[in-house]
Amino acid sequence: MDALWEILVIITVVVLAGLGLLVGYLRTGGRKSAPPVAPPARETKTRGANTYKPGGTATIDTSKGATQAPAPPAQAPVPEPAVEDEPAVVEETAPAPSLERPESARGRMTRLRSRLASSNNALGKGLLTALSGDKLDEGVWEDVEDTLLGADLGVEATTEIVDGLKRRVQVEGTPDTEQLESWLHEELLAQVGPDMDRRIAGSRVGDRPAVIMVVGVNGTGKTTTVGKLARVLVAEDKDVLLGAADTFRAAAADQLETWGARVGVPTVRSDKEGADPAAVAFDAVKAGQEGEVDVVLVDTAGRLHNKVGLMDELAKVKRVIEKQSPIDECLLVLDATTGQNGMRQAEIFADAVNITGVVLTKLDGTAKGGIVVLVQRELGVPVKLVGLGEGADDLAPFDPKAFVDAVLD
Ligand code: GDP
Repeated sequence: MDALWEILVIITVVVLAGLGLLVGYLRTGGRKSAPPVAPPARETKTRGANTYKPGGTATIDTSKGATQAPAPPAQAPVPEPAVEDEPAVVEETAPAPSLERPESARGRMTRLRSRLASSNNALGKGLLTALSGDKLDEGVWEDVEDTLLGADLGVEATTEIVDGLKRRVQVEGTPDTEQLESWLHEELLAQVGPDMDRRIAGSRVGDRPAVIMVVGVNGTGKTTTVGKLARVLVAEDKDVLLGAADTFRAAAADQLETWGARVGVPTVRSDKEGADPAAVAFDAVKAGQEGEVDVVLVDTAGRLHNKVGLMDELAKVKRVIEKQSPIDECLLVLDATTGQNGMRQAEIFADAVNITGVVLTKLDGTAKGGIVVLVQRELGVPVKLVGLGEGADDLAPFDPKAFVDAVLD
């Protein structure tokens, strides 16, 4: 009898357990976990501070808080409100890396002044030495001319500066050293163009993002500049999106994406080496419009098999972007240490695309600062930004007065 009771108890327990499992299964609808989110079936991808929507459209997380906070909360998807009795399914996500807070662009040039001064040592010292004698005769003016020409200022600007100084001496008589330095400062500043509009098109234009295209020969610091510029804009509270249209160089898209990820800026790119750069640029601008960002920054290739090919390609990238949106800014990146060579590059690029501003990089190195004056004259557009080092925040808005101060330090 005892044995029979035991068997009955065991059967009852098993049946109850089975029923329990069945009820549980039916209540969860047989789901084990949420279905995976499908990536878009397109060639370009948006990565970084973005999410994918099933169905093939990349959407961008443009919440300013997420890009500005020094240590943002992990961007895990917020779970749906739990249905009664139903356990909430929280997807596992990788912890978001903490974002960097870029330095505000204001005053950067002053911070980097010593680098500028040491790179332009020869110009400042040469001028002040030439003018330090008792007499201002033809020999002195020749020395001044040679110094200015040697610093890449070019013949026209050099002649104008020397003529300006001579005129002042004629009108006002022989100056003392202090007076002469002050005239020199004024003449140089006039050549650097204190009144040129050096603002970057970094704000939405009407109901669309500003589009900035960045061009330049490989090695000038173009991709680095796009990354640094994204930081400048993020520091100004802008929502930025990067387009990696340098598809010729395999590592360029990775490099750009890394720059963006550091400050929470997404990158539209293709994983296919040699993908059509115009298509990537087009997708980037489109994603920027859909995500309602403030600025789309498009990096482009700087090397192809030949010069004509590169210029044709850049012209095509420009045309294709313009089908989607006007281009508000086309920045040419020039390595300031390349002097006359850089000038020749600049002229070629200016023929292919409509340059609106120049970024002079490596002005901290062996550059001769006169290139600032020369490039503005030759291209008829202002130097808007200068690269003064390899650090992430070593890109500064160009400030003519701070520049001349540093040169004559
Ligand atoms: P890209 O081929 O034109 O895209 O050039 P990269 O952006 O890859 O830069 C080439 C090299 O120049 C890198 O080592 C950069 O760190 C360096 N570079 C870029 N800008 C500056 C600058 O303003 N100063 C110095 N000293 N180096 C720079």
